[in-house]
Amino acid sequence: MTLISNHLPTAELQRLDAAHHVHPFSANTALGAEGARVITRAKGIELTDSDGNQILDAMAGLWCVNIGYGRDELADVAARQMRELPYYNSFFKTTHVPAIALAQKLAELAPDDLNHTFFATGGSDANDTNIRLVRTYWAEKGKPEKSIIIARKNGYHGSTVGAASLGGMAAMHAQGGLPIPDILHIGQPNWWAEGGDMTPEEFGLARAQELEAAILQKGEDRIAAFIAEPVQGAGGVIVAPDSYWPEIQRICDKYEILLIVDEVICGFGRTGNWFGSQTLGIRPDIITVAKGLSSGYAPIGGSILSDEVSSVISATDFNHGYTYSAHPVAAAVALENLRIMEEEDIIGHVRRTSPYLKEKWLAMVDHPLIGEARILGMMGSLAMTPDKASRAAFAAGPGTAGLIARDRCFANGLVMRHVGDRVVIAPPLIITEAQIDTMMAKATKALDETYTELKSEGLLKAA
Ligand SMILES: *Cc1c(COP(=O)(O)O)cnc(C)c1O
Repeated sequence: MTLISNHLPTAELQRLDAAHHVHPFSANTALGAEGARVITRAKGIELTDSDGNQILDAMAGLWCVNIGYGRDELADVAARQMRELPYYNSFFKTTHVPAIALAQKLAELAPDDLNHTFFATGGSDANDTNIRLVRTYWAEKGKPEKSIIIARKNGYHGSTVGAASLGGMAAMHAQGGLPIPDILHIGQPNWWAEGGDMTPEEFGLARAQELEAAILQKGEDRIAAFIAEPVQGAGGVIVAPDSYWPEIQRICDKYEILLIVDEVICGFGRTGNWFGSQTLGIRPDIITVAKGLSSGYAPIGGSILSDEVSSVISATDFNHGYTYSAHPVAAAVALENLRIMEEEDIIGHVRRTSPYLKEKWLAMVDHPLIGEARILGMMGSLAMTPDKASRAAFAAGPGTAGLIARDRCFANGLVMRHVGDRVVIAPPLIITEAQIDTMMAKATKALDETYTELKSEGLLKAA
């Protein structure tokens, strides 16, 4: 049996990692010099590294380990499925039981008439599917000129060429010749950073109305779809003002365009419902799923389509698919994850526990470094600022406080991510009130230390 040894010294593992492993979203030379942290095992909401340190994972891996680590049932299902049917495709007039069962389950869980799933291996390729799908949809309806997809600045939809084009991350567009043609970006509903003198409600309306302005400017006959996350995740857990989504929905209803809701993070309980769309009263035509679908135990994603979208696409040969679309092992693992979520009422747990988290989280605005606290269900963010009154950014540039805060979190046994100068959490949904107390104590200590360090280095200056 091939065994990758956990017993090499950490420094040796780091040396080998630096020599041969190219990390995503990293400056690899600098990372190699510093040495990546080696995670060796995990249980519940806690990681263990190669030096035996315990770390509370307030990010659920990468927003995905919704049911927590170490569930043997998922390992057992994977092993059983590998023995029975490790692989088969669904391209050529064939199908298999895990694909059938998972597609049926998703039809049951997804809102309204979203009853049909096209499977991918993650969120990025699912969103690539969505690009081809909505353009094919309109072409099949005799309107091939409806090809423009409207998306948002600072949105995140994945890292493939198509998905990164939909995303509005400037640093990603700067590399590799993105975006592809016919993708248009409107502003994000980030009141803290961009709201100026408007109230949050005024600003939410104004940002939603940018969608209408873009449709009118390009012409309704040119627009295929609008895509957005219910809550921007990688963009910094930006919970839109309450006025935003009803106005977006009004505009999507008024014009003949499709609404793609990227539920890769918000799906599967994160906001206290199966889907963020349900929490926020959004009626999508297509939703993108991945991450929490399998709680990260196996790579799987998909596009869940309405009856109408599916019927149009199904009338033609849709020339698109992945070798691992509906991979039987991943599908079986996802099904078992959903079974556990239902049987253990994980969503009920989120509803019962998130008010407690919310109370603690919102109280963080009393911290000298924190200007804004936002939270929905089990995803939250804190904006750090040198001057709360003016909502100022740091003079030394974005990430001034964020990088320090992330390091102080690690030093205190906590994984909390930073996006610029926001810190964000998205813990496993199984987190208990006692664990929330521990998480908040660690976070507070890390932010205290961040504040002290910023102060002593003279970095508490407004831009
Ligand atoms: C992570 C993420 C994706 C990309 O999913 P991958 O599985 O990394 O390809 C897409 N959309 C959103 C909202 C995400 O958070």
